[in-house]
Amino acid sequence: MDKKTAVYICTGCGIGDALNIEQLKEEGTADFGIDVIKDHPFLCGQEGVDLIKQDIEGEGVNTVVIAACSHRVNYDAFNFGRDVIVQRVNLREQVAWSQAPKEEDTQMLAQDNLKMGCSQAKDTDWVQPYKAEEPYSKDILVVGGGLAGMTAALEAAKAGYRAVIVEKEDKLGGFLGRMKSTVTLPYKALSETGAAQLIQKVEDEPKIKVYTSASVEKVSGGPGLFSVDIKANGNSATERIGAIVQATGWVPYDANKLGHLGYGKFKDVVTNVEMEEMAAAGKITRPSDGGDVKNVLFIQCAGSRDPEHLPYCSSVCCMVSMKQATYVKEQNPEAVNYILYKDVRTVGQSEDFYRKAQNDGNVFIRGAATQLGEAGGKLFVEADDELLGEKIKIEDLDMVVLAVGMVPASRPETTPRIKAPADAAGADENGMIEVAPDSGFFANSALHLAYRQGPELPTLKYGFPDSHFICFPYETRRTGIYTAGCLRRPMETAKAIEDAVGAAMKAIQCTEATAEGKAVHPRAGDMTFPEFNMQRCTQCKRCTEECPFGAINEDEKGNPLPNPTRCRRCGVCMGACPERIISFKNYSVGMIGNMIKSVHVPEEDEEKPRVICLICENDALPALDMAGIKRMKWSPYIRFVPMRCLGSMNLVWIADSLSRGIDGILLFGCRHGDDYQCHFVKGSELANTRLGKVSETLDRLALESDRVRFEEVGITDYHRIPGIIEEFMKKIEEVGPNPYKGW
Ligand code: SF4
Ligand code: SF4
Repeated sequence: MDKKTAVYICTGCGIGDALNIEQLKEEGTADFGIDVIKDHPFLCGQEGVDLIKQDIEGEGVNTVVIAACSHRVNYDAFNFGRDVIVQRVNLREQVAWSQAPKEEDTQMLAQDNLKMGCSQAKDTDWVQPYKAEEPYSKDILVVGGGLAGMTAALEAAKAGYRAVIVEKEDKLGGFLGRMKSTVTLPYKALSETGAAQLIQKVEDEPKIKVYTSASVEKVSGGPGLFSVDIKANGNSATERIGAIVQATGWVPYDANKLGHLGYGKFKDVVTNVEMEEMAAAGKITRPSDGGDVKNVLFIQCAGSRDPEHLPYCSSVCCMVSMKQATYVKEQNPEAVNYILYKDVRTVGQSEDFYRKAQNDGNVFIRGAATQLGEAGGKLFVEADDELLGEKIKIEDLDMVVLAVGMVPASRPETTPRIKAPADAAGADENGMIEVAPDSGFFANSALHLAYRQGPELPTLKYGFPDSHFICFPYETRRTGIYTAGCLRRPMETAKAIEDAVGAAMKAIQCTEATAEGKAVHPRAGDMTFPEFNMQRCTQCKRCTEECPFGAINEDEKGNPLPNPTRCRRCGVCMGACPERIISFKNYSVGMIGNMIKSVHVPEEDEEKPRVICLICENDALPALDMAGIKRMKWSPYIRFVPMRCLGSMNLVWIADSLSRGIDGILLFGCRHGDDYQCHFVKGSELANTRLGKVSETLDRLALESDRVRFEEVGITDYHRIPGIIEEFMKKIEEVGPNPYKGW
């Protein structure tokens, strides 16, 4: 389709007062064959929007450049449907609100911004959403039939979606089914678990198909197109699935590693899980002789918050011990419970239950056990009492309960035997093999993903599979696969229910978006997807290796095999490809290169340096907008080029900029590392790694390394931005103008 392009400049919000609009119209658009150029004092108002619509309908305008406010606002006002390309140019936050009005430098900045926008509009193509040849499924697979899994399936069914549960045990229920009771808040009395009723509901629900004694053997395809091989009771089945919720739960921390607390040595030392199962079975008795239980000591944080064992807090163990102390008291009102704790963590309304446990006469001791032994058939514990500041000895104990923490069922050491990979030596007759936690095999294979980047969900620091711990709960680094419940983080039953609802809703959103060819979060609704010009592919595998979401498989020759429905449209593959053959309809290496080329580079004697800032549009760009909204000021010599993710940065932009005389390059990306903030997980880290190679370019051009800098900018860092820019501009002044100016 031929383009008919119109530029609309808003003169409201102070833009008209800061700029010479007539000059801007002329000089900012001159090289781009613009058909219509207009200004309006209130472009986002009804009259302004109607003006644009009239040109679309009457004049056949199909490409619109809006030079006004940030593209992050007024999206709906300037949305004219898929047939009209809209390109936004920021003249408000980045120009009128952050620069001195009516200055030559401010005018030049506005002109460059408009030229970049016109260039981008010129290189943007109409978007055609991806549509697979096979029909899309909107069914939800739930792996794990415990509280979170059953809740997720029921929620999906309630919303009208078919759900499939795969449970490894021979019945539904998970750990909930093995509990005696739960604590509901605000606390009145211990509650029944409701497991039987929940199982019944699931079994009565015609939209839910349950496989028990079952495992997922293989997941291939992508969102909307997953093909899931299931083995159940010796039979095989294949389900077409739209999205997946993994709710495979947790396992208790291995108490055998807590020999210093007597586990494995004394029969009457048990874990909180064993205590719960005993209570649920009917009566709490001494495991050693079946005798009655009168004195019980609970050791909190058994292995938890301990760098040698589980470094984190499992959040539920304090409540669980108090609940189990209640069982002991219910069974024998004369019984005495001692609770030896580091800190009692009962947040919010849980505090009521803590008070109840105190009022029940339970003895809370702040301190740590130093010795545990047996005398006359009863246990004793020696401890340092931190509050009394003295050593104490608690004797005549019938049981010691270790409050062990929760380990996500995805963590490798939780099941050290796995189905042996085809080429593995040492498999037993059942095809199982023992694996070390650091062997690189995922021991607890719940999904068996047929993905180039491995069969299971990547995990965060402590083995919890998560994607972005602040912004995107439930998400994993595999598009269309969500986690819920204690697999995601330790949590109590009420939170697991909430979690399951959230994950089910995310899964539903994913199936719906996928069916329309739209991306899921964070670029929700984006209909573009990476296109590969395969004739020029050198099979270098960079794209398949660097895609943070495992969206690209490869064939045996190393050719990339994209799975568009797995793609989050981050552009990391585009930044990685040395051949520059990956592009989107509205984002490509050539397009950004042309935008940078459209920036006017003044001669050296004009003493107007030019800096390009490649800025991540997820965090840093909103922070920049915020700085503008706060009317902060910064150098007029910097030009911002928004990036889908800094990981989409292609080094050629830096090389080309420097060889054109641009004096410096700033990269604003998200924090990376264990506590990363990158919306695309690895993007900013990859950008930083790629930057290591920039020194070759700088050496080749005989330029100073100070000319290129990476800065981590979070969404709340708006107040730092002017300072970062000022400091960088000083550095550029120190190193002097780029000698390539005018070449
Ligand atoms: S790197 Fe990003 S854009 Fe490229 S295939 Fe992977 S998810 Fe999609
Ligand atoms: S990065 Fe580019 S050249 Fe390398 S395999 Fe991918 S598409 Fe081919």
